[in-house]
Amino acid sequence: MAENVPGPRPTPDGHGDGTYDGTGGGDGSSLGDPPPGDAYPDEAGHVPDDVPPRAEGRPRPVVHPRREWKARPPLRPAKILDRAPDRIIVHHTSTPNSPDMSLEHAYQLSRDVQRFHMQGRGWADSGQQLTISRGGVVMEGRNRSLDAIRAGKHVVGAQALRNNSHTIGIENEGTYKTEDVPDALWGSLIEVCAWLCVRYKLTPSLAIIGHRDLNDTDCPGDRLYARLPDLRDAVALRLGPQALLSSPVPGVPDMPDGVGLPSPGDASSLPQPFRRR
Ligand SMILES: [Zn+2]
Repeated sequence: MAENVPGPRPTPDGHGDGTYDGTGGGDGSSLGDPPPGDAYPDEAGHVPDDVPPRAEGRPRPVVHPRREWKARPPLRPAKILDRAPDRIIVHHTSTPNSPDMSLEHAYQLSRDVQRFHMQGRGWADSGQQLTISRGGVVMEGRNRSLDAIRAGKHVVGAQALRNNSHTIGIENEGTYKTEDVPDALWGSLIEVCAWLCVRYKLTPSLAIIGHRDLNDTDCPGDRLYARLPDLRDAVALRLGPQALLSSPVPGVPDMPDGVGLPSPGDASSLPQPFRRR
């Protein structure tokens, strides 16, 4: 990767080693119109900066689209599957725990992650679908992610080896081996998970997992991982009766990853059993 990049850069944390980059050619599928009452205040997809997350009502996180953080174009359009993911994967970026909570810092984080994934990893685009800064700024990651989420479909990312075809990943800025997550990040993470659970009809207690539950990695760090039960509870509380919705694919997923796509190194692999530790 480039050595002249200002600001903190993502470091390898095990997300990427051999992680299947599930991007393929564009499938030309139409995402259709977003359902009424979706998470975006205007049809153009722009979300005003000054709209706070809602403490009640339908989860509606402020999500900054790629154009706001000035994403590079992807090498290829992301592949979209006509189904919902069944797991939400919580990651940490393994970058420094910056005290800078600003919007510009958040945008720089997204650019740095994208640059690392494209130039360092050789992927087509950012691997994760969503990114949250320590200041709580929520951003679109991989291209087409927001349109897909709005349509209840799944953008195949590159964030969980052998499991990209059925999981959506959230990269949380920082390193949480020993340090706890900032309140701003935590609040946004709850809101985003609640939003995804509504959009994809997922049950928080089943759907929300850590990266280490699927792959051989310390991600998202011991401290953040230890808070996942709290996260599941907080999301369920946020959703209220909606949390009783059934997961569309309960239990351990049984589909191979990268359906219909070549996937070097994992052609014979099936999703690993979930590990709780
Ligand atoms: Zn991870």
